[in-house]
Amino acid sequence: MKKISSQVIIIGGGPVGATFACALASSGIKSIIIDQQDINTLSMPKTDGRAIAINSASRSLFQTIGIWENIPQNEIQSIEKIHTLNGLEQKGLLFQELEDTGDGLGSIIEMPVLKASILDKVQEHIKTGFITWKGNQKVTNIDFKDFGARVETDSGQDYTTPCVVGADGKNSITRKISGIQADAKSYHQTALVCAYTHTNSHENTAYEIFLPTGPFAILPMTKNRSSVVWSLDEDIAKTLLKGPEENIDKEIIKLMAPYLDNLKRVGKIWSYPLGLSHVKKYSVNRCALIGDAAHAIHPLAGQGVNLGLRDAAILAEIIHDAIKLGIDYGLPSTLQKYDAWRKFDVSSLLIMTDGLNRLFSNSSKTLNFIRGNGLKIINRLPLVKGSLGKRAKGLGGKLPKLIKGERLT
Ligand SMILES: Cc1cc2nc3c(=O)[nH]c(=O)nc-3n(C[C@H](O)[C@H](O)[C@H](O)COP(=O)(O)OP(=O)(O)OC[C@H]3O[C@@H](n4cnc5c(N)ncnc54)[C@H](O)[C@@H]3O)c2cc1C
Repeated sequence: MKKISSQVIIIGGGPVGATFACALASSGIKSIIIDQQDINTLSMPKTDGRAIAINSASRSLFQTIGIWENIPQNEIQSIEKIHTLNGLEQKGLLFQELEDTGDGLGSIIEMPVLKASILDKVQEHIKTGFITWKGNQKVTNIDFKDFGARVETDSGQDYTTPCVVGADGKNSITRKISGIQADAKSYHQTALVCAYTHTNSHENTAYEIFLPTGPFAILPMTKNRSSVVWSLDEDIAKTLLKGPEENIDKEIIKLMAPYLDNLKRVGKIWSYPLGLSHVKKYSVNRCALIGDAAHAIHPLAGQGVNLGLRDAAILAEIIHDAIKLGIDYGLPSTLQKYDAWRKFDVSSLLIMTDGLNRLFSNSSKTLNFIRGNGLKIINRLPLVKGSLGKRAKGLGGKLPKLIKGERLT
């Protein structure tokens, strides 16, 4: 079969890989996305229970590359306040946008809506020839050579490119084949995810309640609904999931009741095993990793996709700048710039969320004293609070052009 070649080959058309392809296309760079699924199936994704918190940085990236306009406005729920509470105490850390900048602290968008809106943009770029989607194919091997890479799939088709980008999720085959090592651990926690309707307004407020059994998040959704992400010990979750769902509802409703009235679950209860992983490096010769292929993070900070989208914006800028200067963008010397830009940024967020989970998912009295007072102290330090808030919005550190609202020209 004839080899097909492209400027960039992206393995995985999930939210991160598909956005990366759009970022390249909007900068005049052609790519092929290889995914084990067909684009039409992925464009009509079924719900997986997840309501995704999209921060200001991701929103800005989506606006720059024309994805934001594809998201139906009535499917976007803005977050105006975030209450972080230690256990069931009613006082905690409150993040609130002081100036009305119009974008609040972020937006909640259900995963199927998000995926469909990104893939709509992919379809537009397919029409102009900047993106080619090769679906129903699983990548089985990649041959990295000094001058380029050859990607093989189970369809028998071969692809060649100067640069392969692995966006193939937490069990990334690109990571395995490229030999990139990752530090990984299981949290031995499971996240139970579901949504409830209520009669009073959620007032665009999210809650992060740190219980000794693990973090419990309430996220405001459109249509007077709120989503719950309850991370708890995997054995407790297993026992709860074996019993009737009404028992889980009772526990969840008890925790939501101080804030929301007449709660009724909509849809099923989903469960996700939780783990942490972070690659030791983000690139090797002819290959870079983005999204969950590079890092998987505890959902307590609601930052997984956001981190991946920032990877995408940074890598697109580095590849674009190299092409403009006539430099081989698949060489380690070019891709190391991506490594250097990402490593510190992601490590600091991973350490913060991992530390928070360990500090709060514990019933020790000493730790309870530390966390209760820690939240009070941060509340009184506007600079620290401001910097935490900025980080949650994804606006800390060196920002890539696409997040600053500048196009790559
Ligand atoms: C309970 C929960 C709540 C979360 N909440 C948030 C939140 O509020 N905010 C946030 O930012 N993040 C959140 N996340 C994290 C977020 O869901 C992930 O970070 C995100 O889905 C990763 O996207 P991705 O595109 O990197 O990978 P994936 O979505 O895993 O996409 C990978 C793609 O690669 C394809 N693929 C895989 N292997 C191959 C192969 N061999 N050949 C071809 N194709 C292949 C797959 O078909 C898939 O399309 C949450 C996660 C969980 C579990």
